Amino acid sequence: MKKIEHIGIAVKNLEEANAVYAKLFGKPHYKTEEVASEGVKTSFFKVGDNKIELLEATNENSPIAKFIEKKGEGMHHIAFDVTDIHAEMARLKTEGFVVLNEEPKKGADNKLVVFLHPKSTNGVLVELCQSTD
Ligand code: ZN
Repeated sequence: MKKIEHIGIAVKNLEEANAVYAKLFGKPHYKTEEVASEGVKTSFFKVGDNKIELLEATNENSPIAKFIEKKGEGMHHIAFDVTDIHAEMARLKTEGFVVLNEEPKKGADNKLVVFLHPKSTNGVLVELCQSTD
């Protein structure tokens, strides 16, 4: 793994959260994107070299809707940048981590993404992402 790519935060209302985080960082988000397959609308902020992703559910079956129902708003996942997502998935499986998808999915920000089950990572939802641009 190369670095933390972004940190994901689950929010109830993206527009309101965008305003809060714009105040926090002193600048607005630089893009928004809907990922229909995941049932989320996202926005991205840059803070130095780091990115923060805000996620709002677009339907009640969205993983974000379920997360907020159980835990409320807040830190949702940490995403790590990888060079070869397939190789990294294979490596982590042999190390005993639970990879949530058989194949990487197309996520926000032109990335191939896959998640590791939090039960195998001490309660943290970990996203691996490989850039496709
Ligand atoms: Zn993410």
